[in-house]
Amino acid sequence: MFQHHLISLASKTIRSTSTMSASKYFSDTILTRSRVLSRRDVKGESHQKEKETGLTRTSTSSNQTDSVNPSTSSLASKINRKRSHIKIKVEYNKDEFNDSDCVPNHVKKEDVKELKSDLKHENITQNSDWEPNMWRDQLQNIVVMRKDRNAPVDTMGCDVISDCRASPEVYRYQVLLSLMLSSQTKDQITSAAMKKLREHGCTIENILSTSDKVLGELIYPVGFWRRKVEYIKKTSEILKTQYNGDIPSTIETICKLPGVGPKMAYLVMKCAWNQIEGIGVDTHVHRISNRLGWMKKTTKQPEDTRKALQDWLPREYWSDINHLMVGFGQQTCLPVNPKCSICLNKDICPYGKSQLRYSKKIKQKIKTEIKSEIKTEVKDEIKTEVKEEI
Ligand code: SF4
Repeated sequence: MFQHHLISLASKTIRSTSTMSASKYFSDTILTRSRVLSRRDVKGESHQKEKETGLTRTSTSSNQTDSVNPSTSSLASKINRKRSHIKIKVEYNKDEFNDSDCVPNHVKKEDVKELKSDLKHENITQNSDWEPNMWRDQLQNIVVMRKDRNAPVDTMGCDVISDCRASPEVYRYQVLLSLMLSSQTKDQITSAAMKKLREHGCTIENILSTSDKVLGELIYPVGFWRRKVEYIKKTSEILKTQYNGDIPSTIETICKLPGVGPKMAYLVMKCAWNQIEGIGVDTHVHRISNRLGWMKKTTKQPEDTRKALQDWLPREYWSDINHLMVGFGQQTCLPVNPKCSICLNKDICPYGKSQLRYSKKIKQKIKTEIKSEIKTEVKDEIKTEVKEEI
């Protein structure tokens, strides 16, 4: 149906622009299609993220004002009208927190080699009878594509942007806070907010004595910053009164903290407590696992993906899979328009294969349409010329 619409759109465009060159036409058509896909896919992705984190927007007005600077109320009305065009400039230094020597659990390049050789190892503990076809090759290809470790998550992940030189309790608190800030927020923005928080003094006592207004200004423009101010304050109070100034150390207790879901809890266990209790499945891991065919049945929620992955993926890989996939999702397997044509998995990924087949088919159809349109136009021109001559 969509293909038919695209072809008919292409035909109309050709008729109205008979002087347009074929190459220009191709680029225009493909751009039009990607815009249509982008809006739809982005909407779905955003909806998915909201479900995953539980941060559902309660009303149109709260949705729109979530990104408004507390000190710029006049700007708020403009943003309300044109929210989709907001561009926030955040200054950050990507090497600011890249202190990998100091980070307890940061994956280093040596680990990449180890993981790759592990994949060939025959004595991997298999979790279940079922496993996806080709997962070892697919994962190995991702390891190769991620060998440079230069995705945003590598230099701005929760473990890297927390102060590893602080006391263990403060480090763990910062890991928790950076994960809370990271929900619905780009790594660059989370990293900039953590930098400001650390400069301000990112300890439980200090955050509790900071006013909501100042805290909001420190973490702005992270997604849902107003609600996160509330969550951070409540969480800090709980940590002070119930956990003696430290963070809880079980998935169940971490999940009870305001604004903390299972994905965060598993990452907190890994990064703060160095314990692998499960796989931290965010929107990247969820999307890529489904695209690669790693789910027995397509899953709708990240939490379902986590359970399904844990059913078959050997425990040896639970620790690194989030970091690997998040970076891969940030650089190659993008939410919209994944770069399948340059992906090492393009021949063994069901989604990638269908994408490439589809775009090849569309290109071929459009080519045929153009050829036949050109033939008709040439015929018409010749007919007109002959008539004039007669
Ligand atoms: S082929 Fe495409 S969809 Fe599949 S893993 Fe690679 S980028 Fe993602």
